[in-house]
Amino acid sequence: MLIGLYGGTFDPVHLGHLHAAIAVQKSLGFPTVRMVLAARPGHRGQPSTDIYHRWRMLCLACESYPELEPDDAEIARQGASYTLETLAAWCEANPGTVPCWILGEDAFVTLPLWHRWESLLDYCNLVVVRRPGLSSRYSETLTRFCDEYEVRQLNRFSSGQIYRCALPMENISATQVRSAIAMGEPVGHLLAEPVCAYIEQHKLYGITENAS
Ligand code: ATP
Repeated sequence: MLIGLYGGTFDPVHLGHLHAAIAVQKSLGFPTVRMVLAARPGHRGQPSTDIYHRWRMLCLACESYPELEPDDAEIARQGASYTLETLAAWCEANPGTVPCWILGEDAFVTLPLWHRWESLLDYCNLVVVRRPGLSSRYSETLTRFCDEYEVRQLNRFSSGQIYRCALPMENISATQVRSAIAMGEPVGHLLAEPVCAYIEQHKLYGITENAS
């Protein structure tokens, strides 16, 4: 059985993330998508917002969507949050399932920087979604990797595949949300309502005015 896993720093989780997770879940028929908080990402700068707040916002965002489950595996583990370790632990604990790691194309092009990236496909399939508004240049290494492993249709019983999804995505980023809040601009159209309320309540992102 294929299961969706969608990792992110979620600083904060926004409607672009939720739309991507649900669109892929429906399109590929996953029973669920687990939203994995990248607590201490290994290959990019550390998020400025405390893990506790990012986790609370992720839980609030998932509350309205039964098909999305917040996953704290990388919070519980000490040290850097390596996707490979998350996937290896998932496979050991859930035999008979094949995790499909969902990621935007901007993240996919950084894949060769990830810890033991060439082993990822031993544990999962990679499902790559479009990232409107961000340019994504493929290195030669990544192009060769795609040539070898990309499929047009996912085999539902095996790992080792790269599948690029043509589904339309929302042009929203957490960077845009953080800077809008800091400037006192409204962000109600970019965030789930309880996430918006949480940010206001805890005065996150240098909030200056009513963010709803
Ligand atoms: P930041 O602006 O801080 O870099 P972000 O919006 O890219 O944040 P992340 O938590 O870093 O959010 O992203 C987690 C994953 O979600 C990545 O694979 C990223 O490509 C993907 N993603 C983020 N926003 C969208 C979106 N609007 N549509 C599709 N995928 C997205």
